[in-house]
Amino acid sequence: MGSCETNQAILNGVKVIPSWLETFRAAQGIRKISIGGEIHDRLRYGEESIDGWKASVKSCQSCAAAQGNYHVPDCDGEECPLCFTHLHTCTCKAKKFIENQSS
Ligand SMILES: [Zn+2]
Ligand SMILES: [Zn+2]
Repeated sequence: MGSCETNQAILNGVKVIPSWLETFRAAQGIRKISIGGEIHDRLRYGEESIDGWKASVKSCQSCAAAQGNYHVPDCDGEECPLCFTHLHTCTCKAKKFIENQSS
C-alpha cells in the first residue's frame, strides 16, 4: 500500500535504523573499558578468542560492526578483555566504557 517509508540504513551490509549510524560512529571512539578499576583495551570485532562470529565473512549481526571495528557498547557480540567470555554476560564487576579523551 503506497510507498513504505524507508526507515532503514545499511551499515556494513546489515540493516540498521538510521540513528544507529551515529551511535556506531561514536562507539569507534570508545576504545577502553574499565573493569574493576583497571583500564583495558576493548577487543575489536574479529579479535575474539572464541571464533564463533566469523568476523572475516560477515558483520556483527547485533551491532553491524565489520571486522576490526569496535562493537557498540553493550553489544552481545563483544568479548571481555579480562575473562574472554561475552562481555554482556560475564561476571566481571564494575565495567565502564571509557570514551577517548583527546587532551
Ligand atoms: Zn557487535
Ligand atoms: Zn569479564
